[in-house]
Parts: sequence; structure tokens; C-alpha cells
Amino acid sequence: MIGFSLALSDDQRQLQSWVHDFAANVVRPVAAEWDDREEFPWPVVQEAARIGLYSLDFVANASFDPTGLTLPVVTEELFWGDAGIGLAILGSGLAAAAIAGAGTPEQLGEWLPQCYGTADDPRLGAFCVSEADAGSDVSSLRTRATFDEATGDWVLTGTKAWITNGGIADVHVVVATVDPALGARGQAAFVVPPGTPGLSMGQKYRKSGIRASHTAEVVLDDVRVPERCLLGGRERLEEKLGRARDAARTGERQPAMATFEATRPAVAAQALGIARAAFEYARDYALERRTFGKAIAEHQAVAFLLADMATEIDAARLLVWRAAWQANNGGLRGGEGSMSKLKAGRVAVWATERAMQVLGGAGFVKDHPVERWHRDAKVYDIFEGTEQIQQLVIARAITGLRVE
Ligand SMILES: Cc1cc2nc3c(=O)[nH]c(=O)nc-3n(C[C@H](O)[C@H](O)[C@H](O)COP(=O)(O)OP(=O)(O)OC[C@H]3O[C@@H](n4cnc5c(N)ncnc54)[C@H](O)[C@@H]3O)c2cc1C
Repeated sequence: MIGFSLALSDDQRQLQSWVHDFAANVVRPVAAEWDDREEFPWPVVQEAARIGLYSLDFVANASFDPTGLTLPVVTEELFWGDAGIGLAILGSGLAAAAIAGAGTPEQLGEWLPQCYGTADDPRLGAFCVSEADAGSDVSSLRTRATFDEATGDWVLTGTKAWITNGGIADVHVVVATVDPALGARGQAAFVVPPGTPGLSMGQKYRKSGIRASHTAEVVLDDVRVPERCLLGGRERLEEKLGRARDAARTGERQPAMATFEATRPAVAAQALGIARAAFEYARDYALERRTFGKAIAEHQAVAFLLADMATEIDAARLLVWRAAWQANNGGLRGGEGSMSKLKAGRVAVWATERAMQVLGGAGFVKDHPVERWHRDAKVYDIFEGTEQIQQLVIARAITGLRVE
């Protein structure tokens, strides 16, 4: 176990500045264009792959750093550049994390590299859980996985909603129900390999923010995958179903909703990047813009707002770093992952809205990036667990009650 320290190592500072340079020089200059086009920014992802920023190695090294801080630090820098492009670069990590979390060593070896491709030929991964009628309530997934004894294949049928990289990914990880009576505990995750017949893209969503990130439905029409695509393997699934059936018989409660606690600080760090971008832009603008004979930063109302923004962003970062450190050092105990995501999402929405206020009319038009950052920030109250779902996890942790 590594003690908690706010001092970044030389390696971490170097990585931070490397990612910052990429965000400042490659991402920011084209961010408005990709937001307008609402298309996946392939040239930027290809450049990230060329320099090794979009790669399994980079993500694995950042994720397994013993202090836990590398991933949030580099994520904040990348998303300071642009959140839509940032998600285009980090989106495959959702599928990779699902494979790393549930797969056997052989499955990790086979599928993780395919989520990223190579420096010359980057590929994408997608993690498909949500459905039109099952977002927060993942226990009611309708996508079914049935085993075909005759062929030894698993057959997946259903429609996934809101999937980052959905339909354009090479590797789709699909969560489906094996035993509907067991709710979330009757589900399993399957890898759908590149080019598998029956998987197609449904509607592509036209979003308010993070528009460079591709979000679409994924339609699964009798998709057949071999037994080796069941993450964790058959034996582990049967054990899990057996435990869930026992628990259902005895009425014993099993932990739920806390599954994503360890990955929430990294998502929270994305929101932090947007919030910091907005704060810095508003501060610089306030130092330049003059009214009533002085810089608007000299008006106390504006200066105090900037002071509050800086304070809130720092408070959110401390929660993010604490949870990230805990995730890699002995575990999260009391909803700390959710606290970091709840706080960072709210701070990003608030700080970007206040940044628009500091810019006045200029904040409301596309000549400046703050209106885009405000549109981008809102999704952090919504995806990877809404604000209310984070509150639910925290409330259950601090009361020990089954708060609904
Ligand atoms: C841009 C984007 C990208 C996404 N990418 C992915 C992805 O890659 N993979 C994936 O699987 N999913 C993805 N999602 C889906 C996302 O995780 C869901 O949208 C989210 O979990 C919320 O589900 P929902 O939209 O169905 O809202 P609902 O669950 O319908 O919630 C509606 C409202 O009700 C509230 N609510 C619901 N239940 C409760 C409760 N018990 N107590 C209090 N309030 C409650 C919510 O907080 C919310 O305010 C993405 C979504 C977006 C917008």
C-alpha cells in the first residue's frame, strides 16, 4: 500500500505535460470543428495512436499506477483540451475495463489488444449495457443470451441504447440476461468479435454536447458468439448464478450499484478537465475585459466568482484523487468513488455556466468555447450513473439502509 500524497512524481509530471501539449496543440484547435460536424474525429485519434496516447499500453500503465493518480491526472489534461474528442480517445477504455474486470487471462490476451488496434491502424471498443428501458435500472435489461446446445454458441438478441462507439467499434462487450428471474445477478458479459453477423448500428444520437464522441444504438439480431466469448467462462457464470439463486431463496442481500465505484474517479476527472478549462478561460477574459474604467476582474462580484470557481474545482479534485488512490490501495469503503463523480459533475456544470456569465454576451455565442464546454459538462450529471444514482450509493453507504 502506498501512502496518500498530493506530490506527483517526476514521471507523472512529465506525462501530465505531454498530454497537456497534445490537448493544447492537437485537440483544442479542432474542437469546435468536430463539435459542429458531430462526427468521430478519426484524424485526431489516429494522431493519438501514432504517438502512443491511444494505446493499450498507455491506458494499462496509467490505470495500474500504484498511487492511483496517473489516470485522473492525464484524463483531466486531455479533457481540458476537449471532452468530445477526449471521449473519442478514452471511450474504448470502457470495453477494456469490462474485459479486464471479468475476463480470464486468455480472454484479456485475446481481446484487449483488439480494443485498440495498432499505432498505424487504431481500432475501437464499445461497452454495451444500457437499453431504452434500462439505464439507471440495469436490473431490467431485456437483451437475452441463450445457449444453443446444438452448436455450442451463445445467441444474443436485443437492442442497446446510448452506446459510446456503438456500431463503429471493432470489439463490442455486451451485457445480457441469462436468467431474468435473478435481475442484475442473472446477467453476463460477452465479447462480440469484429465482423460478427447480426450486430448493427441503430440510430446515431444527435447530442447537445460531447458531439465528437459517437453515441448510437446497437442492434443484436440473433448474434452468435462462441463459448470462449463469455467473459470469465462458463464455470464462473454457473457459480455466480448458483450464489444468486441461494441468496434469492434465503432473502440475503448482495451488494449492488457499487460495481463502478473504482472507475468513477476517472470519469470525474473528465468533468474536472472541462471545469478547469472554463475557469481559466473566464479568469483570462476577466483580466482583459474592461467596464466602468477597470478590468472586470477588479469588480469584486466577478473576482469572488472566480475565487469560488477555483475553490470548488480544487475541492472536486481532492475528492477525485482520494478516491483514485483508495481504488488502487485497499479499496473504497463508503461511496467515495460516487462522491468524486457527484461533486465533479456538479462543479463542471456550475463552473461552465458561471464562465458564460463572466463572458456576458460573448459567453452565449460560438466565438468562444465556453458555451460548448457548458453543453459538454451536462453529461457528467447523467452518464456513468446519474447524479441521483451517485446520491443513492452514498446514502446507502453512510446509513447502511436500503434507501430506494
Ligand atoms: C452521451 C452518452 C453516452 C453513453 N455511453 C454509454 C455507454 O457507452 N454504454 C452504456 O451502457 N451506456 C451509456 N450511456 C447510458 C447512460 O449510462 C444512461 O443514460 C444513464 O445511466 C441514465 O439512464 P437513463 O438515460 O435511462 O435515465 P433514467 O434511468 O431513465 O433516469 C431518468 C431520471 O430518473 C432518475 N432516477 C432513476 N432511478 C432513480 C432512483 N432509483 N432514485 C432517484 N432517481 C432516479 C435519474 O437520476 C434521472 O434523473 C450513455 C449515455 C449518454 C447520454
